[in-house]
Amino acid sequence: MCGIVAYIGPREAYPVIMKGLKRLEYRGYDSAGVALLEKDLRVYKKQGRVAALEESIIGQDLHAHTGIGHTRWATHGEPSDRNAHPHLSASGRLAMIHNGIIENYTQLKKELTKKGYSFKSDTDTEVLLNFIEDIQENNNCSLEESLRIALKRVTGAYVIVLLDRNHPDTIIAARKGSPLVIGIGKGEHFLASDASPIIEYTKEVVYVNDYELAIIKCDELILKNLGNEKITPFVQKLDLELTAIEKGGYEHFMLKEIFEQPETIFDCLRGRLDVTKGTITMAGVQNNIDKLTNAKRIIIVACGTSWHAGLIAEYIIEEICRIPVEVEYASEFRYRNPVINHGDVIFAISQSGETADTIVAIEKAKEQGAFIFGIVNVVGSSIARISHAGAYTHAGPEIGVASTKAFTAQMVVLIMIALKIAYEKQTLTEDRYIQLLTELQAIPEKVKELLRTSEHIRNLALKYKNVKDALYLGRGNNFPVALEGALKLKEISYIHAEGYPAAEMKHGPIALVDENLPVIFSAPKSFYHEKLVSNIQEIKARKGKVLAVISEGDEVIEKMADDIMTVPLADELISPLLSVIPLQLFACYLGMAKGYDVDKPRNLAKSVTVE
Ligand code: GLU
Repeated sequence: MCGIVAYIGPREAYPVIMKGLKRLEYRGYDSAGVALLEKDLRVYKKQGRVAALEESIIGQDLHAHTGIGHTRWATHGEPSDRNAHPHLSASGRLAMIHNGIIENYTQLKKELTKKGYSFKSDTDTEVLLNFIEDIQENNNCSLEESLRIALKRVTGAYVIVLLDRNHPDTIIAARKGSPLVIGIGKGEHFLASDASPIIEYTKEVVYVNDYELAIIKCDELILKNLGNEKITPFVQKLDLELTAIEKGGYEHFMLKEIFEQPETIFDCLRGRLDVTKGTITMAGVQNNIDKLTNAKRIIIVACGTSWHAGLIAEYIIEEICRIPVEVEYASEFRYRNPVINHGDVIFAISQSGETADTIVAIEKAKEQGAFIFGIVNVVGSSIARISHAGAYTHAGPEIGVASTKAFTAQMVVLIMIALKIAYEKQTLTEDRYIQLLTELQAIPEKVKELLRTSEHIRNLALKYKNVKDALYLGRGNNFPVALEGALKLKEISYIHAEGYPAAEMKHGPIALVDENLPVIFSAPKSFYHEKLVSNIQEIKARKGKVLAVISEGDEVIEKMADDIMTVPLADELISPLLSVIPLQLFACYLGMAKGYDVDKPRNLAKSVTVE
């Protein structure tokens, strides 16, 4: 959460920073701000979107070759001009931006207040900044040195970037727990929370690691650890094109990303699945096949939508690999002293690869000897680096805050891993294995086909736009699809929605059913069909409205439901790959119909790098 951009070099810093902040706005949009350093240090900041900041500073002196910028997702202190970053130190000499949370800021604030400091904002950030300045003044040491001393006292997560009015030729940054990428240009450097603000200038990047400090000048990048030892920067080439982070004619990123799914699923399968040879090639799986096939238990840790992908995988892995699976919220797992035994394998799922809770959960499991397999979308992200092995989802940058294409790509990766393990363990017959590979290969075309019904889904969204609540139901591996459908509706249209296993409905939620409550079934053809038909009857008997996602040709449910959304027929094991897509579209169109910004739903941000 929170987007960070900084620049030092021959260009005008302001336009580089503003363009970068707009690309990072998905990470937070409570306020935006810049600090520009030339002969003097100027700070401009404003509550709201980057565009609001831009407008508010028309006519100001924006000339500088060094600068830092921030788009905030508030954790400490309400969204306001006052709490916006960059913050200035008490003397006005230092400016700082921060992504993360300083957990012991209350203690530090107490100490500083005793020394006579007062604070202009409610943020943890300003406390850390003055703590650094206090060390600098008392010890008469360099900013770099004072930062090193300060960070040894700090608990929590951060990327911080600092400017010192007395040293306009240097930017100093440090990282622990939040992401930071440095782009290396010719006589210039770019810093950002992810690579999107950097790619149009350079493809050479360095991902800064935890507990590292970067001292950056136009033509020099020094990395050090907190012990003041130099570290050789590991320069990587970015594999990302500018078009991947632009809207490409769509009104919203979310809509674009939903419609990209035939390609993203295809990209995820490409080079891995070969039906004619009957193979799945995934280096991370192949190189660790013994660990995976001998796993006594697989524990999936994830948050939000990724957790739903994990739940779907639980059904599939248990069914075809016969390995027990547990699916855990990373935020709970990390704190509850989990029992981890020899032979346990952890699957960590995260779109960004930076989800703070998932990172800590992994670290905990790693300490206890578990083998960690990461499934992430962002190449080079923290989870990718701290896992023992892993597989990328190759869905391309996902910018809409509500995850869509990353979710289906996660499912595809998990299904391929399950198939590979099942094949090696021989818990699946050869015929069934080949049948599933063939089914999987057909998915991109089927997604294309179902997206052709988008106009019908848009009309349904208009019809249901004024509902106050919605209940989503499904069975088997379509139960997590119901959870995901409900989550999408909550996130995007702010309508209260709940997901339940359809059979659980009679243990409580059915009390909610009346003529006003739409009950949305994820009911593609499956073993559960007859049971779902009964559940639909139970809702209809109580005058509830039924909207069902069904397989083509399912006349039984079509006749019973008030409205339907149709998906092509697919093997039930992988049917969630199709059935979730109408629910994504439904939520997106409904949010749009209500006039909301579906890419940036209120209170949310992508890449949850705080606890
Ligand atoms: N904790 C800081 C604040 O509330 C930074 C939050 C962020 O990462 O945007 O201002």
